[in-house]
Amino acid sequence: MSEAGGAEAILREVFGFDGFRTGQGEIVEAVAAGRDVLAIMPTGGGKSLCYQLPALMRDGVTLVVSPLIALMRDQVRGLRAAGVEAGALTSANSEDETEAVWQALEAGRLKLLYMAPERLGAASTSGVLRRAGVSLIAVDEAHCVSQWGHDFRPDYLRIGELRQALGVPLAAFTATADAETREEIVARLFAGREPATFLRGFDRPNIRLAFRPKDKPRQQILTFAGARRGQSGIVYCGTRAKTETLAQALREEGHAAAAYHGGMESEARRTVEARFAAEEGLIVVATVAFGMGVDKPDIRWVAHADLPKSIEGYYQEIGRAGRDGLPAETLTLYGADDIRLRRAQIDESPAPPERRAADHGRLNALLGLAEALDCRRRTLLEYFGEAAAPCGNCDLCESPPETFDGTEAAQKALSAALRTGESFGAGHLIDVLTGTETDKVRQRGHDRLPTFGVGREHGRTQWQGLFRQLMGRDLLRPDPERHGALRVTEAAHPVLKGEARVALRRDTVTKTQAPAPKAL
Ligand code: ADP
Ligand code: ZN
Repeated sequence: MSEAGGAEAILREVFGFDGFRTGQGEIVEAVAAGRDVLAIMPTGGGKSLCYQLPALMRDGVTLVVSPLIALMRDQVRGLRAAGVEAGALTSANSEDETEAVWQALEAGRLKLLYMAPERLGAASTSGVLRRAGVSLIAVDEAHCVSQWGHDFRPDYLRIGELRQALGVPLAAFTATADAETREEIVARLFAGREPATFLRGFDRPNIRLAFRPKDKPRQQILTFAGARRGQSGIVYCGTRAKTETLAQALREEGHAAAAYHGGMESEARRTVEARFAAEEGLIVVATVAFGMGVDKPDIRWVAHADLPKSIEGYYQEIGRAGRDGLPAETLTLYGADDIRLRRAQIDESPAPPERRAADHGRLNALLGLAEALDCRRRTLLEYFGEAAAPCGNCDLCESPPETFDGTEAAQKALSAALRTGESFGAGHLIDVLTGTETDKVRQRGHDRLPTFGVGREHGRTQWQGLFRQLMGRDLLRPDPERHGALRVTEAAHPVLKGEARVALRRDTVTKTQAPAPKAL
């Protein structure tokens, strides 16, 4: 095909690349053909090429809207160095620069015009752009049009109007894959008309995925790091205090390790960043504050000492490993406490109720991944909307977990919660299930409940594993109003009524025989 052939020649001759990365070829083809396109690719996936290259294949000027001035200037510099006529109109321009860009535009010399969103407001802009022969609009960081996102830019709302005024195709790019954001992009940039949508390149096959329930978590991290002595790695922690204590524990084991969190002086933070970039084999023990702008290609492992806050957060954090494409490993620890903490953080946030519900959903997706029954990569990629086959490079592909029909156990746990008025945490419910006569049990009269002692076939630890899995499946959820109390969710009703079955993992519930049927 001559179009694609042309694209490949430009790819080599102008950009100096040997081939397209995953997804780039088909996106370039669609954009060059003048289709409306929404492309979702991870950060670092190579989005800019997907509009720069079509810009060179098409007549007229491509208008690029981007919120990042430094990035626009870098791209313009890079394009000019490659012999492409490009210019940027941003607040960082000198008057002379701006004048030169307008002149080049009016003389029909520019192929790419970068523009900061706030410039779109000027009344004269759309007329000038039409006369200058703008034939394509490319929108970088398109999630900025969404109020769901954290980067909402009101000026982005003008892009939709501009597109209609110019009547040209639009190509939008973002790394944010969640459904709400995607819908808002389509509504606001494409006036609701579905663009050709590409979601590609989220798979990072060289990164091994693994999760483990917490069981002496500090030792789990020390063991993981100990087996990777001398390699650069990151340990993410849920709190600032923990970064300090865990870094100390690693140093005591003879590792080079440094703590990093947002509460440190910026000077001290920069020192850690510089050491991490320069040294081989440093472990940085950090909160999520560490990562923006970390572009060390040879990070060999990333461990989570605590559960991340969402599936997106997890993906970003593990994605810092193995940028060089060589094998890299990850380990994510999680426990019932993490689930409680993350739920509480969402419930206590000042966000509006719909936003909090969406955040619970993102946490659920991560918990589903933690408690997955088969290939983690497939589960992860499916969340992002990308289909995948079992990967062979995750803990579950390597040793598939044994499952058992946990419906009976789930029904017992759920009815214990209901019978006690959904007012108690897992500890008390386990006392009831195992028939343990504590003071609290007697005081509340819970030893007279029909559920008292119906769960004796499992020990305490087994029940803890079961409750964690039930919380992970969002069948039980901590009540934001009453600290630690577990509520039975909507999703649990079919299980209670016997209309849905629950497969649970055996490994976290070590006792082997299936629970004997017993009336509830
Ligand atoms: P992002 O998707 O984050 O905007 P960029 O467009 O900045 O990513 O690309 C990330 C890096 O990948 C850049 O250094 C770019 O030069 C490089 N890159 C993009 N496409 C290719 C390719 N086909 N072959 C090799 N390198 C590429
Ligand atoms: Zn797998």
